[in-house]
Amino acid sequence: MRRRTIDDLSPEILRGRRALVRVDFNVPMDDDGTVRDATRVEASLPTLRELLEAEARPVLLSHLGRPRGKPDPKYSLRTVAKVLEELLEAPVSFFPETDTDPAVQESQALEPGAVLLLENTRFLPGETKNDPALSKRLARLGDFYVNDAFGSTHRAHASVVGVTEFLRPAVAGRLVESELEAMSALRAPSSRPFVVAFGGAKIADKIPLIETFLDRADVLLVGGAMANTFLAARGLPMGASLVERDAIEVAAGFLDRPGGALRLPTDLVIAEPGAPDASRSRIVRADAIPEDMAAFDIGPETREVFANAIGESRTFFWNGPMGLFERPGFDSGTVRVAEAAAGATAEGAFTVVGGGDSASAIRQAGLADAVSHVSTGGGAALEYLAEGTLPGIEALDEAPR
Ligand code: ADP
Ligand code: MG
Repeated sequence: MRRRTIDDLSPEILRGRRALVRVDFNVPMDDDGTVRDATRVEASLPTLRELLEAEARPVLLSHLGRPRGKPDPKYSLRTVAKVLEELLEAPVSFFPETDTDPAVQESQALEPGAVLLLENTRFLPGETKNDPALSKRLARLGDFYVNDAFGSTHRAHASVVGVTEFLRPAVAGRLVESELEAMSALRAPSSRPFVVAFGGAKIADKIPLIETFLDRADVLLVGGAMANTFLAARGLPMGASLVERDAIEVAAGFLDRPGGALRLPTDLVIAEPGAPDASRSRIVRADAIPEDMAAFDIGPETREVFANAIGESRTFFWNGPMGLFERPGFDSGTVRVAEAAAGATAEGAFTVVGGGDSASAIRQAGLADAVSHVSTGGGAALEYLAEGTLPGIEALDEAPR
């Protein structure tokens, strides 16, 4: 179902009025408060610039980390305000309260052209409980509501869902809009072949996702530790490789599906379980892993097959690294998939990368700008792809037909 966006707001709703914007500034941070990766802050800029241009006054809410419903200086958003100020090139003030009367007064006193960032919503015990009393207090911080926190839209929390009960219009920001556009295009691909590559570690979390794409994709490539579980389901000895025992039965069920879109590795890079890097690794057939060795990457033959399939795709979705890419030398399969995705994009394919580790992997390969879309929301993106909707989206105003 389509939702209203900033485009649906009239100049009268925007001008001089307070836009309560839920952003996702859940950034990786060092212990001294230094922001290690500002990707999520950057992702909020289009919406904030547009609101400022329309002379609205943005009041921002976000969570950071998991402070468990009480203030914890380690998770303060104070330093994020400085990062935003530099990127936005507009004054950004920080206020160390969130739902209090003084916070409301700050929002009312906000000067045109400036932005106010309030303290971490997860310092409040009602946030993750979607508490109506908290939602009502948060609603006093704005004159209308914008959800641009794509990475949080799968959570029915007060600042994402509850607040919309008390504050309208409630619309989608530009980031949410572009993420939804990319994800819906994958649920109903207009150009084929549609190729999907899965990797990473956790099948159990991704069963609904695999389910979704097993029927829709023309080719479904599986690498990473996920492939280990599938290979184990075929009855192959996986040695000391990471295998999800609990998921073997489900994996076997997927392998038995008619249609046969699933492609598993035929060769693998193996090493001793604790190997710090790939210097003592070797390549074996997928059915020849010695008992004391573990598979850490897809082998060269598999890389070739996967890269060719991706190269021929017109629509491509990738979730999950092809190996233990964080460790030196075990990133070859992941890099090869990233390069193939970039190549397909250059040939006109629509290509999307989703998932937290997958997004960092393509950034690490320096190819994030070479694909059509890299999702900022790991869990949210995967849940939307599997379910076709998210609680934080359902809560927004329906678009007029
Ligand atoms: P995403 O965050 O993109 O959804 P996951 O969280 O499912 O991806 O998986 C990413 C993790 O999987 C990475 O930390 C990576 O090192 C790990 N991984 C991938 N392949 C292997 C493997 N063969 N053995 C051990 N770990 C692996
Ligand atoms: Mg992950």
